[in-house]
Amino acid sequence: MQLRVLTEEIEGYDALSDKQKDEFEAYARKEAAALGVAEPLSQWCDENPKGFTGAERDRLTIWNSGLSWSTDLFVSAALRGIGYQVKTMPVPDQESLRHGKEFGNRGQCNPTYFTVGNLIKHLRGLEVGGLSKAEIIKNHTFLTAGACGPCRFGTYVTEYRKALRDAGFEGFRVVLFQQQGGLKQATGNEQGLGFNPTFFQAAIKALLAGDVVNLMAYRIRPYEVVPGATDAALDQCRELVSEALEGGKSVLLALARCRRVFASVKVNRLQPKPMVSVIGEFWAMTTEGEGNYHLQRFLEQEGAEVAIQPVVNWVLFMLWEQIHDTQRRMELREDDVARKGLSGKEPWKKIVMLRAARVALVGLFKLFANTIGLRGFHLPNMDKIARLAHEHYDNEVRGGEGHMEVGKLIDSVEENRAHMVISVKPFGCMPSSGVSDGVQSLISAKYPAAIFLAIETSGDGKVNVQSRVQMMMFKAHQRAQVEFEEAMQTSGLDMARATKKLDKSWWARRTIHYPPHKLAGTAANQLLELG
Ligand code: SF4
Repeated sequence: MQLRVLTEEIEGYDALSDKQKDEFEAYARKEAAALGVAEPLSQWCDENPKGFTGAERDRLTIWNSGLSWSTDLFVSAALRGIGYQVKTMPVPDQESLRHGKEFGNRGQCNPTYFTVGNLIKHLRGLEVGGLSKAEIIKNHTFLTAGACGPCRFGTYVTEYRKALRDAGFEGFRVVLFQQQGGLKQATGNEQGLGFNPTFFQAAIKALLAGDVVNLMAYRIRPYEVVPGATDAALDQCRELVSEALEGGKSVLLALARCRRVFASVKVNRLQPKPMVSVIGEFWAMTTEGEGNYHLQRFLEQEGAEVAIQPVVNWVLFMLWEQIHDTQRRMELREDDVARKGLSGKEPWKKIVMLRAARVALVGLFKLFANTIGLRGFHLPNMDKIARLAHEHYDNEVRGGEGHMEVGKLIDSVEENRAHMVISVKPFGCMPSSGVSDGVQSLISAKYPAAIFLAIETSGDGKVNVQSRVQMMMFKAHQRAQVEFEEAMQTSGLDMARATKKLDKSWWARRTIHYPPHKLAGTAANQLLELG
């Protein structure tokens, strides 16, 4: 069997006569025996069930978690809308981490402990609620994203299964959605969960809706006049969008309603606040809980406006990877004769399709953004990010955010997008260790104007991390204040005149208005616009 697989990869093997093939294989066997590898190798195989059948679909509860709270809710609602029983698990907390450490392998990265532990904690909660282990295993499953690596992300699903087994949930199904698999998913899902165009449409709508709703809230909350008004509006929007996704109604209509809900929050944008961009490892920068010590909320409490990274950036990055890799492989197309090689194929078709997907995705994001009132928000140009980063972090190096984190920091400084950039680096993360501690130090030295801070999230050490953030925030506050004062001079407005002008301008004082980007701070931009 081993020989067959190997020989099929050899160019010209098929053209050999049977006799030649026999001679070839006999020779290979002899050499293998001499090397001591003649015995067939037994390949480890994960026997756990990975999917479910169509017949189980109606009685099976699918649990979902892993992104921001809004996005998790919307993904669940969208999948309920296409016929699945999906529920959202709570955001991972310290108890999740404890469960992860108890049942996970040693030496995992922090997001693994949090997410794996969250599932165990949740299933134990179901048990406490009266369900037996057998019922949970039979009637529940967990949907998560996976990838083939190269970092620990590739082993997440196995970690889930190991922890489940050790916690007494042997046989509990973890359905894996390969994030780069597209419609060709390799999971052993037996038609219960159809990764088909309907599934993808529902998922994309949910992700984009989650992004624009979150971005609106992070834009408005720092300037709200009545504390808590933005969160109340956010809750209302979550309900509106979830209802639309679940009921198969128009998401655009729901977003248009959200626009009115957000517009009712009163704001005062003439408060100079540092703009803090949060980048780093995908899960750690996206979660809104103990996994990053509630970083976004902490920054807001410390007086910042937080620039979050929408999930769509990650999808754009994956499209960039596919286009880039196909273009590179085309250079050696003639020699790319392996089973999945490009020799004799028309890879330009794939590139055209991927580019079309990118245009469609960006177009859809803009449509969602404009509908909810998220004006002037630009998605990063992934070609530019790759170009900026390449000199310092090779575009071919993958794992984690790849070169994206480096490119984002440079872009942020060059385009004056933020006063301060925080990179969230989970403890035990392989790619982040090289980027946040290594390459970003070089970037900070090359761009001394950057206020950059890499924080490590290990689950404990919260006070240390928060005090480091506070120290850097002091600098960021100073910078935002200086920028605001300079904007006063440029615009010729003092605070009293600016306030008066703003009160008179129905256009600029609207909550959903966002002054055009010229400087990093929103208040300074508002002054320039009024001036
Ligand atoms: S990027 Fe880092 S934290 Fe994320 S899965 Fe990979 S190793 Fe873990």
